[in-house]
Amino acid sequence: MIRHPAFPADPWTIRETELQLDSLAHTESLFALSNGHIGLRANLDEGEPFGLPGTYLGGFYETRALPYAEAGFGYPEDGQTVVNVTNGKIIRLLVDDEPFDVRYGQLLNHERVLDLRAGSLRRRAEWVSPTGRGVRVTSTRIVSFTHRAVAAILYEVEPLDEPLRVVVQSQLVANESVTAAPNGDPRGGAELAAPLRSERFDSHDLTALLVHSTKQTGLRIAAAMDHALDGPPGTETQVESFADLARLTITADVAPGRPLRAVKFLAYGWSADRSLPAVQDQVVAALAGARHTGWDGLVSEQSEYLDDFWDGADVESEGDAEIQQAVRFSLFHALQAGARGEQRAISAKGLTGPGYDGHTFWDTETFVLPVLTYTVPKAARDALRWRHSTLDLARERARTLGLEGAAFPWRTIHGEECSSYWPAGTAAFHINAAIADAVRRYQVATDDQDFEREVGLELLVETARLWRSLGHHDAAGRFRIDGVTGPDEYSAVSDNNVYTNLMAQRNLRTAADAAERHPRHATALGVDDEESASWRDAARQMLIPFDAALGVHPQAESFTNHQPWNFDATTPEQYPLLLHFPYFDLYRKQVVKQADLVLALHLCGDYFSDEAKARDFEYYERLTVRDSSLSACTQAVIAAEVGHLELAYDYFAEAALMDLENLEHNTRDGIHIASVAGVWIAAVAGFGGMRDHSGSLSFAPRLPAELTCLRFRLSPRQRTLRVEVRHHQASYTLVGGDPLEITHHGQRVTVGVGGPLVLPIPAAPIRRPPTQPRGRAPSRHTPAP
Ligand code: BGC
Repeated sequence: MIRHPAFPADPWTIRETELQLDSLAHTESLFALSNGHIGLRANLDEGEPFGLPGTYLGGFYETRALPYAEAGFGYPEDGQTVVNVTNGKIIRLLVDDEPFDVRYGQLLNHERVLDLRAGSLRRRAEWVSPTGRGVRVTSTRIVSFTHRAVAAILYEVEPLDEPLRVVVQSQLVANESVTAAPNGDPRGGAELAAPLRSERFDSHDLTALLVHSTKQTGLRIAAAMDHALDGPPGTETQVESFADLARLTITADVAPGRPLRAVKFLAYGWSADRSLPAVQDQVVAALAGARHTGWDGLVSEQSEYLDDFWDGADVESEGDAEIQQAVRFSLFHALQAGARGEQRAISAKGLTGPGYDGHTFWDTETFVLPVLTYTVPKAARDALRWRHSTLDLARERARTLGLEGAAFPWRTIHGEECSSYWPAGTAAFHINAAIADAVRRYQVATDDQDFEREVGLELLVETARLWRSLGHHDAAGRFRIDGVTGPDEYSAVSDNNVYTNLMAQRNLRTAADAAERHPRHATALGVDDEESASWRDAARQMLIPFDAALGVHPQAESFTNHQPWNFDATTPEQYPLLLHFPYFDLYRKQVVKQADLVLALHLCGDYFSDEAKARDFEYYERLTVRDSSLSACTQAVIAAEVGHLELAYDYFAEAALMDLENLEHNTRDGIHIASVAGVWIAAVAGFGGMRDHSGSLSFAPRLPAELTCLRFRLSPRQRTLRVEVRHHQASYTLVGGDPLEITHHGQRVTVGVGGPLVLPIPAAPIRRPPTQPRGRAPSRHTPAP
């Protein structure tokens, strides 16, 4: 793997020691800051040059018509696209009449530091203008975890050697032109031209405000800024505002040793319903709150919030400094995506870029929520509450499709189905089981009874109804789910996908159990004994195909009869295959885009014997090309479970470096949030062997040779459990709370608060390493000291 030359391995920061203009879009995603409500790409303060400017608000979108060559019944008419909203990051600088622009003059040095404990992006640049004037510019940016609507920037400018006149322009800019060249990659996002219509602009003293609304969806957004200045005597300010621009101009004569210091407070708010005065008041109040807390207060609240987060969520790996850094970077982005989402969708890129149009997919429930459930359970709860709030739309979608219950969209921002390609969208019904399983996991992990009654039960009931109506019993009494698409998007519309059927089975059982626990609430939802018995019956009779001749589970019925893909004739440039081959050919061959049957081995591992897991894993390793970032982490988990620890480590490293190393070549469009969450999954479920199938936690830890120790923390049921894994033993420590029953390598034990429970680790089974398609084995990751 080629390491970004400018990122030294440091455990708590990502430090970029030189600015590389050709990778600006990449680093804007890496250094993006977000609290799940506001997302700021790491565009340079002065706005230019940029890779892709971006400021996003969770749930804020515009619609656009979806063009079809041949439309069909039930095709969604409109797509939804995340909007690049009013940019409040811009602070331009003039140095004796020369605009500070890193493309001109001489950039003596430039450093950016994403600080994972402070939750900030710091920048420091020394620059000499084309006319020879030298300045030092420093800025620190935060998106507050404690003030949901607030971001802030501390900006300082100081001459390097002689007094200078500087002019700083702090701005709000709406409808900025994005002008990123479209690259034809379907994983990118649609670009909306000037999506915001001005409704009000205002400015006075050091503050300004812009209010806009979207043209189609009519969502109203207000962005406001205020400033605290500390400049030399004679510093002057002027503020002005227009429809799409507000600007505070600060003019000062600055001398070395006495920088001009400006704190910019930013507040954002949006609403589909509230009036213009109400949204305006909301941001004005948020600004007042931010000013009241002050820069120092915001900064210290930010680090307290993160201290708390790391205390309950940190994953420490000894033995590989690069991986330690990448693991924390990943956890930080997983937190940023969900922390303050508060009943809005968590999208596949979080709020770090426009990729996938800002849509949420099954990625959230399958990959992101397991992490949040065990580290920031409130954030997982809120994400599920958002799903619940879209139930009416999902019921309507089910009716359109001729089904019962609720059919949640494959991709959406607001709740309506936005996938215009039904074989990989609508037919991927497994998203419904992912939602139900996330409810189950949250319930088991928190015992939050209010949630179960108000939210969980209804999600379980409506998804169970969907499966009951989507499948049918055949003449032999087996329950079949035909014509659906599983996680592997290189197969579509197949019968009895093993992953889907096992997840549906669990969904049906979990719904019946929850209805039994809450009979009154279940009756209110129209559930009677007949109905829940029919769910149990369908679950019991669920058809799980098995290929007895090969001794493996086919991903779906007949899959193992398909012709294998000709991997030897496929060149490295032809990956990802979806950009070079027609789907019709991919669909009829044995080639796997991403873990599908292997994901069943992980999430439904209680169904399979150890031997079946080892055989299935080996079979699917030969076919899996990892053209999706949602694969490496799952392959790491199962590789570790069946004893291929070296391979597991390589997959773990691949997931961990996915964005830092830009392995999918599209980090420019945003961070792969499922993959960063998957890093936690690879560590905790992979090397920690953690599973939560049965309502309690089980562990089967085992370390690869590359690591000397792995430590992680979980917060099940209001307790904190610390797990430390070494090569020959694991120790479990409970920090407060009642004793916790867990399983360690099949042995039931109780962890109490008295001290660590230390248990031996049995040796891993010895198996021949599996092979991968030509050129698709993960790179060998050699630890950096
Ligand atoms: C994957 C899907 C995923 C989507 C968004 C696709 O490439 O195949 O499983 O949901 O990306 O991340």
